[in-house]
Amino acid sequence: MVDFLRARDRMVDFHIARRGVRDTAVLAAMRTVPREAFVDPGFEEFAYEDSPLPIGQGQTISQPYVVALMVEAAALQPGDRVLEVGAGSGYASAVASRIAGHVYAIERLGELASEAAARFERLGYDNITLRVGDGSRGWPEAAPFDAILVAAGAPAAPPALREQLAIGGRLVIPVGEARRMQHLRKITRLGEDSYDEQDLGGVQFVPLIGAQGWTEDGQPATARAYVRDTSLPARISAAAEPLPDPDAADFAAPFERYAGRRVVLLGEASHGTAEFYRARAAITRRLIGRHGFRFVAVEADWPDAATVNRYVRHLPLRAGTVPAFQRFPTWMWRNTDVAALVDWLHAHNADREHAEQAGFYGLDLYNLTDSIAAVLHYLDRVDPAAAAVARERYGCLTPWQKEPATYGRAVLSHGYTRCEQAVVQQCRDLLASRLDYVRQDGESFLDAAQSARLIAAAEHYYRAMYYGGAQSWNLRDTHMFETLRHLLDAHGPRAKAIVWAHNSHIGDARHTDMGAARDQLNIGQLCREHFGEEAALIGLGTHAGTVAAADDWGDDMAVKRVLPSRRGSVERLCHDTGLPRFLLDLGPGQDEALREALLAPRPQRFIGVIYRPDTELQSHYAEATLPGQFDAYVWFDETTAVTPLGPQHARPGMPETYPFGL
Ligand code: SAM
Repeated sequence: MVDFLRARDRMVDFHIARRGVRDTAVLAAMRTVPREAFVDPGFEEFAYEDSPLPIGQGQTISQPYVVALMVEAAALQPGDRVLEVGAGSGYASAVASRIAGHVYAIERLGELASEAAARFERLGYDNITLRVGDGSRGWPEAAPFDAILVAAGAPAAPPALREQLAIGGRLVIPVGEARRMQHLRKITRLGEDSYDEQDLGGVQFVPLIGAQGWTEDGQPATARAYVRDTSLPARISAAAEPLPDPDAADFAAPFERYAGRRVVLLGEASHGTAEFYRARAAITRRLIGRHGFRFVAVEADWPDAATVNRYVRHLPLRAGTVPAFQRFPTWMWRNTDVAALVDWLHAHNADREHAEQAGFYGLDLYNLTDSIAAVLHYLDRVDPAAAAVARERYGCLTPWQKEPATYGRAVLSHGYTRCEQAVVQQCRDLLASRLDYVRQDGESFLDAAQSARLIAAAEHYYRAMYYGGAQSWNLRDTHMFETLRHLLDAHGPRAKAIVWAHNSHIGDARHTDMGAARDQLNIGQLCREHFGEEAALIGLGTHAGTVAAADDWGDDMAVKRVLPSRRGSVERLCHDTGLPRFLLDLGPGQDEALREALLAPRPQRFIGVIYRPDTELQSHYAEATLPGQFDAYVWFDETTAVTPLGPQHARPGMPETYPFGL
């Protein structure tokens, strides 16, 4: 049985107060209103999660933090007349009613409105008047209002709502050119015709559908008052350094500015784009070949990368070695671009002493993919419904996969909790057997103490991983960072390294809604905190083309079309430069005004091993600031899917296509 009082207090402390909501009246109201009474039956146990939840009819109850943020921004006073547009479940109106004098609430959908009215009645909230209607026109008979809260995104602030504000009144409304991505605006009426406007940051709301919002088919209902900043692409273009094709001899030359750093982290906006691999390979060859970088450490399982490492260092194949990277998502490492880099490292190391050779390592020591496969295999056998939930949750471990239906299914499957013990045990057994392999590996940095630490942490990790969410992500990225540090230590006091991982791991998480809204950190952030200016964080991005990805975890790879980037996104700004490829240096001493302009959070696309174009906006876009995340951004306007290794790539004289096998 969930202790709702405790959960509510925890929510207010962790998700609201800690994020900066200070108004004591707002915090007290959030501690009073029982959110579990506003969610659909069956969802009560999720009522205090840090997220919106479905309330039927394709609508959501807003994330508690966003409700608190909006109510605080509206600066409600006792006695105030408040209008809420988009009452939905009634939760935000209920919170406002605990502070203000009277709340007028409008909801467009009759069914939601009657459920909300019943809730107010049950809870005895008698200072709320609710009606069904189009709130984009406001509620003229009840105006003027001291505050208006709008819980749905509009293309521009409706003039009717501005006009229904009292002088000194505050309108808090999500405004954005994209239907499901907005900036929260606070508009204060200063005089008859004068208003002050403030930006409170990026948010995602369902659209405001009505005469002064969006039409049902997704068009702004009125002429757009939203002014696009058309000068930004031109300014990016002026600051950008055009790049040649990644296979050109001098592609990596501009990246020599990072040759003095201890760690150069190279990102990617998908796990299946050839240009990202080829660019990173070219930079890696340059930094290793000319600037003494000692190894490349990639977002891959340790044991598989260790097999590749033995190959590139000309170490004998160990008995019982299985070919590397045979499990989902195979194309991420078994592709022609990685094979070419592996061949280059093999040749580069040929006449070098062991201590001078360049290495290839995996940062995911926990063997994530094997563990996930084991869990899914087990659940598929004993409880397919639980397996479906697990698939969704593992989606969350790959960058930015969000599936709104997850909660719905989690509720349906009681087997999920029942299976926990067995699944955790299975992961531990798996780890124990894999550890023998790791222990015997020739590279000595991974000593007994490290193994012991790993075993101690494993149960915690698997339990967290089983439930998904921020904690498992943080454990994973902290682990990757620690592995990197151990590797650096093992290679000498001034050893320099290159890291390959997804943008979501490399772009400083404090500057994405991953860090800001979900308490997630990542290896990029940890490197910045630890190495300061000695770390270079470089993101890569694209507008359109093709990508190798699956529909779901464990499914076959397909070559999918990448939708053109969305209006208002970082990618669209880069696309609008008209340049096919460029490097944008975002470091100190560059165009400061441009850096400043790019600091506003914008939607940015994250494709992992799964790509779902049908739900692209929810599944793959998140708010982030480009210069906050990265020291530089590398742009490829049009990109192509990686080519997985096939029999035609077998190398004569090698056992299969060692080290990959086929
Ligand atoms: N504050 C609500 C809560 O906490 O449950 C959030 C509800 S949801 C994010 C937004 C609601 O706005 C939906 O229920 C939707 O039907 C409603 N809506 C959209 N356009 C509207 C309009 N023009 N007038 C009134 N309600 C509208």
